[in-house]
Amino acid sequence: MRLGYVLHNGRAFIALAHGQQWIDFSRVLQSHADQFPWLRLRPQPTVVDLLENTPNLLRTMGEWFTRLTQTGEIETYQIRGRVQFLAPVTRAAKILALGRNYRAHAEEGGYSVPDEPIFFAKASSSIIGPGTDIVYPEGVQRVDPEIELGVVIGQRAKSVPEERAMEYIAGYTIVNDVTARDMQRNDIQKGKPWLRSKSFDTFCPIGPYLVLTDEISDPHNLELTLRVNGEIRQRSNTAMCLFKIPYLIAYISRHMTLEPGDVIATGTPEGIAPIHRGDVVECTITGIGSLVNRVV
Ligand code: MG
Repeated sequence: MRLGYVLHNGRAFIALAHGQQWIDFSRVLQSHADQFPWLRLRPQPTVVDLLENTPNLLRTMGEWFTRLTQTGEIETYQIRGRVQFLAPVTRAAKILALGRNYRAHAEEGGYSVPDEPIFFAKASSSIIGPGTDIVYPEGVQRVDPEIELGVVIGQRAKSVPEERAMEYIAGYTIVNDVTARDMQRNDIQKGKPWLRSKSFDTFCPIGPYLVLTDEISDPHNLELTLRVNGEIRQRSNTAMCLFKIPYLIAYISRHMTLEPGDVIATGTPEGIAPIHRGDVVECTITGIGSLVNRVV
């Protein structure tokens, strides 16, 4: 199943897909409001609201799909016509990104392979959805895109053991960890944090939607491809990640609580190269989809 946050006829709502069939899940929630008391506090729910209030996401979504199919109601919730996908998680989320989590990328940057995860934050105000423009900041000399598998947390996770870490995942999406490279390099040299070079507005395209865990049997065997104006810049596989997802969740959750809707961007493979105004960046991960943004 897939969860999206979409814009359709001027209204933003949660969409749920089983196969190719997308339904308006916000309307399902509102039509059965007696079964979702939390809607009183969140009358216009986002995907993050849904995650926060649905401890057993996969089972709950599956049960609703079955129930609506059996009663024939599913027809009335079907989304007809074109929708615009927005970022599946909204600004409230925490974004943690991995540095140098692919050997070849660490080496191309002139760095050694880390012996423990390097993670940093991106400001959640940098989030944009598919089709929204990446704005090249004034005064920056070099901007690079970075394709990454995004892990979206479904349940609060604090000091979770590695063996149970996968239970805390709601699903997967694509993250483009856009970086002001010259600024990042200068800041590293001066011992400053990476936050500002990673956090300009529009520097975190996410999407196109959240693919739930039932559709991704092995997140460590997904092909990642980043194209700029149709030309391949990065191509690798999540199998090449140095630190694997269960280890990362266990490691990060020892340092801070992970909340529903938080995103872990698992690092980028080699092939880093700059983008310019007018370029179109397309990030594709097998089993998830494509995230396309233009640079202006
Ligand atoms: Mg990155």
